Amino acid sequence: MDGGLNDNDISKVIEADKAHVWHHLTQHKPFETSDPRIIVEGKGMRVWDQNGKEFLDAVSGGVWTVNVGYGRTEIADVIRDQLVKLPYFAGSAGSIPGAMYSERLISKMPGMSRVYYTNSGSEANEKAFKLVRQIAHKRYGGKKTKILYRDRDYHGSTLATMSAGGQDERNAQYGPFAPDFIRVPHCMEYRAQWDLSGEEYGQRAADAIEEVILAEGADTVGALCLEPVTAGGGVITPPPGYWERVQEICAKYDILLHIDEVVCGVGRTGTWFGYQQYGIKPDIVTMAKGVASGYAAIACCVTTEEVFDMFKEDMSDPLSYFRDISTFGGCTAGPAAALKNMQIIEDENLLENCVSMGDRMLGNLQALMEKHKVIGDVRGKGLFLGAELVSDRGTKEPVAEKDVGAVVAECGAQGVIIGATNRSIPGLNNTLCFSPALIATADDIDRITEAVDNALGKVFG
Ligand code: PLP
Repeated sequence: MDGGLNDNDISKVIEADKAHVWHHLTQHKPFETSDPRIIVEGKGMRVWDQNGKEFLDAVSGGVWTVNVGYGRTEIADVIRDQLVKLPYFAGSAGSIPGAMYSERLISKMPGMSRVYYTNSGSEANEKAFKLVRQIAHKRYGGKKTKILYRDRDYHGSTLATMSAGGQDERNAQYGPFAPDFIRVPHCMEYRAQWDLSGEEYGQRAADAIEEVILAEGADTVGALCLEPVTAGGGVITPPPGYWERVQEICAKYDILLHIDEVVCGVGRTGTWFGYQQYGIKPDIVTMAKGVASGYAAIACCVTTEEVFDMFKEDMSDPLSYFRDISTFGGCTAGPAAALKNMQIIEDENLLENCVSMGDRMLGNLQALMEKHKVIGDVRGKGLFLGAELVSDRGTKEPVAEKDVGAVVAECGAQGVIIGATNRSIPGLNNTLCFSPALIATADDIDRITEAVDNALGKVFG
């Protein structure tokens, strides 16, 4: 860290922060008297706080975002050049970076065709929901308006995306929600609802979706929205058989498949997109966090040409096109940064690195499972991993949330920032989360799991 903050500056920052900033996901009463950590600088996999303490960041900016790591001057340079040339013009007009990034992005998504720009994962999902609703009106006499979402999945913090929210603790006290969002059962083999495993469990969990469709009436269901690997709900990887069956069901009942790649997208699982791990053919794909690795706010709602075409037909109807706008979807810094971000991933072979480092980390976590009985399950894809903590492997009783917090804090004390599922599902906020940047080295991975090893020893003995 190159310094720059003296003790006086630091106390002024903390004072201003405590006096005026309303932090995300924070109960401010205890925060007021706490000694907060403000991250002020980053380089590669490392960040430094206001006191100069160095941390290895095992969660890419806390929430699975900084996929190419910190301090990428090449991204900063293209953003600067673009801002000097043209920072903004309304998205209805298009832009050079928007066109160039769309072409590049679509080249990584065979079968997909059109990119709609917006600013956050929640907004991208809202756009997708609006597309589905408008298609219901255009094509199905206003009938196919229902959108199915899955227990434990998360799609955002706005009211419509919360209406599609499968994490009850996040939703509590924010209702009433929007109508016609219908929940389907989760697909988490570790906490299976049926006495089945592997492919049989995967198919049964998909059949449960069909049961919901039939109960609701297939002619009322427009779309199914799923995370390829559930993120904040517990890093849940679906078993074999699930996605094949899901795809069949969508085709059978003429239901659009919307894949939420806000976390998995742009390399996190070792392929460009998480759905590509499972051979899925989506109709709509949304993405945000890794698109520009947090260097600019950009999100995309991507569709097939078939979906896009529905908004070109019937010129006699003045309402037939997608009547949506996002002011800052016209910012040019986002696609300029996203284009460079993608170039870096290619030039530095970061997908390959993600696969090999992900395997290493999975192996390390599995080895920790031998040693620490408190780890009930380890799961993940690429550099997107979780370790679920239970007080008893037989009953799978989750450990107390305060103990999960203690493990996270102990890793922090050792200079490693890890994450955990946080106040999302009542009684089940017990999974440690890991998502290092795709540039992680073997030493980084080993250091992360060593910190976890020490922390588990300290907290659970
Ligand atoms: N979808 C998923 C799977 C997410 O994990 C998130 C955020 O964590 C979102 C959507 C919402 O994204 P944003 O916070 O950018 O609105």
